Amino acid sequence: MIDVLLHPRCVRKLKRSLLAAGLNEIGGVLAAEQIGDGRFLVIDLSVQSNGTNSNFERDPTQHREFIRRFHDRVGHKPERYNYLGEWHSHPSYPATPSDADVHQMQQLVEDDEQQSTFLVLMIVKLDSDGELRGSAHGFRRNVAPVRGRLHGSEEEAIHEEWRSMIMILGERTWL
Ligand SMILES: [Zn+2]
Repeated sequence: MIDVLLHPRCVRKLKRSLLAAGLNEIGGVLAAEQIGDGRFLVIDLSVQSNGTNSNFERDPTQHREFIRRFHDRVGHKPERYNYLGEWHSHPSYPATPSDADVHQMQQLVEDDEQQSTFLVLMIVKLDSDGELRGSAHGFRRNVAPVRGRLHGSEEEAIHEEWRSMIMILGERTWL
């Protein structure tokens, strides 16, 4: 079981960024502290905002720089503080990974240059009431992705997204 907790500061940063991005997909990387077995507290995240309304293209250079600065800030303790994975938004679709998202994450974790043996993909969106909605999945080499739990806090709640997106005969269907 994987638990991904978001620091209230990160929830607020996400809400601000999602509101500003409107229908454009945005994303970035997650920097986290491991707080237990399979438990991660996201304490910072980068926001790259140049997506379109149906696609988000990650920029590895921007993300490497963000993680390098994160390691500097927390004093280089990678066993405790590290890159946890990726996040992006689905403003127009349920906040669960698409087939393409799953494929891309699996490639990322299986890449020869990847130092992490475990990566998280978080998908988020804003609810109609302005609250954060999302999902978290864990990826490992040669293993099918597993759904984790995504938690906010009393101060800044997150609603878990349980709908998923599949394509039937070229039409999007909500499950
Ligand atoms: Zn996606």
